[in-house]
Amino acid sequence: MADNHPNQPETLVETLVRRASLPEGVSRPLVTPLQPSVVYASPSPDVLDAQYSGEVPGYTYAREGHPNADLLALKIDMLEQARGGLITGSGMAAITAVLMSLLKSGDHVIGGNQLYGRSLRLMTRELPRYGIGADLIDPTDAAAIAAAIRPETKLILVEVISNPTLRIADMKAIVALAQGRGILLAVDNTFATPLAYRPLQAGADIVIHSVTKLLAGHSDVTLGYATARQAEHRTAIREFAVTTGLTPSPYECWLAERGLYTFPLRRDRAEANARQLADMLADHPSVARVIYPGRADHPDRARARTLLQGRDGNMLSFEIRGGRAAANQLVKSAPQLVFAPTLGDVGTVVAHPASSSHRALTPEARTALGITEGFFRVSVGIEEVDLLISDFKEALRAV
Ligand SMILES: *Cc1c(COP(=O)(O)O)cnc(C)c1O
Repeated sequence: MADNHPNQPETLVETLVRRASLPEGVSRPLVTPLQPSVVYASPSPDVLDAQYSGEVPGYTYAREGHPNADLLALKIDMLEQARGGLITGSGMAAITAVLMSLLKSGDHVIGGNQLYGRSLRLMTRELPRYGIGADLIDPTDAAAIAAAIRPETKLILVEVISNPTLRIADMKAIVALAQGRGILLAVDNTFATPLAYRPLQAGADIVIHSVTKLLAGHSDVTLGYATARQAEHRTAIREFAVTTGLTPSPYECWLAERGLYTFPLRRDRAEANARQLADMLADHPSVARVIYPGRADHPDRARARTLLQGRDGNMLSFEIRGGRAAANQLVKSAPQLVFAPTLGDVGTVVAHPASSSHRALTPEARTALGITEGFFRVSVGIEEVDLLISDFKEALRAV
C-alpha cells in the first residue's frame, strides 16, 4: 500500500474494497475494542473444522457468539460466582431461552404470581400453545408452591424481590423444595442483583438477569443474561438462543461492559439514597404507606435480613391518598423526577403501576395486590440525597 501513488485511481479502487489492517504495534488499547464483525475469517478448512469441534478457540459468525458478548458474560459470571453465562438481546430473550430450551410439551411450570409482566404473559399465553402448563403462585408462601407441584412439574421460576410490592420470596424453603423434588429452580435476579443474593450459590439451578436494568445502569441498552449450574443446561440454553437468534449486538454489550464497571458503586449510593428517601416518605403526612425491604415495618423484614445480606436495594414503593387525581398531581409537580416504566437508571425514575405495568389487571385484582391508584414505585438513583428528598417533598406538597 505504501508504494501506491495517490494518482493511480485503478489501484486505489482495487485496494479500497479489500479489507486491510494496520501493522500491530507494541502497545494495546486499555478499553475493550468494539468488535462489530459478523464474520470471522479462518486460515484454512482444517482450522475451521477444529474451531467448530471446539479443539481451538475462535469465532465464526456473530449469532453464534462474539468477543463483546463473551467479555460481558465473563464479568457477570464473576458477580454471580457462576460460569458459562450467555448474553442475550434482552432480559426477556434470556427468560425465553431458559424456558423454551428446558421445557417440552406435557411439562408443567410454576411461576411467581408477581413476576415481571412479560414473564407472566410468556407463561400464561405463549407456553400453553406449546403444551406447557403453568400455574402462578405466591412465592412468599412455599407451602402453596409445594401444593401446586404435579408429577409433570419441571421448573419453578421466581424473582427474589417482587415487583412492585417488593415482597421477599421464601427462597430457603423454595430451594429446599426444588432440590427435594428434583425440580429445576430458575431465579430472575434482576431486582436483588448479585450483591444481595447469588441464586446458584444459594442452591438454585439457573440465574437470569435483565442486564438492561441495574447492571448496565444507564438506560441505553437492552440485554439479558442467563446461566445454569449444570453444563448440560447451559448448552441447551445456548443452542436454543443461537438457533432462534436471541443474539445481542456487540455495541450494546460494549456499552453494558462500560456500565458494569461502576455497578457496585452505583448500587451502594442508590441503596443509601433509597434508605433515606424511604424514611422521609414514611414520616410524611401525605404518604399512607412505604414499602422498603430495609425498614422495620416491611412485611418480610426478617426474611430480607437473612436473605439479602443488608443489601436492601434501590427500589421502594409508596402510596399516597387521593387516588388517580392526586397521582397525576404528584407526577406533574415533579418534572425533575423522570416518570417512566423502567428501573435501574443512574437517575431516579418513578413508575405508576396502575396505569402501566398492571393496567391489564382488573381494579379488584390490583387492590388484592395492594396496588391502588395512589401507588408509586421508585427506582432510586445516585443523585445527591438532599436534592432527591427536596424534590419528593416538593411533589408531595402539591398533592
Ligand atoms: C425488565 C425486566 C425483565 C425483562 O428484561 P428486558 O431486558 O426488558 O427484556 C425481566 N425481569 C425483570 C425482573 C425485569 O425488571
